[in-house]
Amino acid sequence: MRIVRYPHPTLRHKSKALRRVDAELRSIVAKMFELMYETNGIGLAANQVDLPYRLFVINVTGDPSLRDQEHVFINPVVSRHGPSQEAEEGCLSFPELYAPVVRPERCTVTAYDLAGREIQQELAGLFARAVQHENDHLDGVLFIDRLSPSALMSLKEPLSELERELEGERMRGLLPDDRQIAARLAELEMMRSE
Ligand code: ZN
Repeated sequence: MRIVRYPHPTLRHKSKALRRVDAELRSIVAKMFELMYETNGIGLAANQVDLPYRLFVINVTGDPSLRDQEHVFINPVVSRHGPSQEAEEGCLSFPELYAPVVRPERCTVTAYDLAGREIQQELAGLFARAVQHENDHLDGVLFIDRLSPSALMSLKEPLSELERELEGERMRGLLPDDRQIAARLAELEMMRSE
């Protein structure tokens, strides 16, 4: 398992709901937490590890010793409310890039946890922001899609650099073509999704 970087096509995939929680899914989640901690993140969505599943993990402290801060959201439904707030965001699929994003300050999220139980949480602050950011990933939406034109402009160079890097990987045969990527995602979805 590895984290894919912009503009990898899986980051634009809109995932379908998962049918069930089983041992394989639990092991995927454990690996996602591991990768997230290794890369100093506070949240990671399945798309970012090249999987077409409606699921993300969060630990807003980023501290692996704080297990009670670990949250898994499966088939989440997020409703946003409250006034909007601007704050700096980054994303593990855009290493070292940060930009201000405006989002509602609060949200309610309903989802399933790893035990298959339905959970509902009212969130505010950083946790609410992280949930909205990760939930966007499941719809193929990236934080750069939510930037003001001037903030996006300021990232133009580093984004082109990431585009060139992926193109380079592709030329060196390290990355399948778009059709192969889409076929693999469709196959995985057929096995696990609704
Ligand atoms: Zn992200």
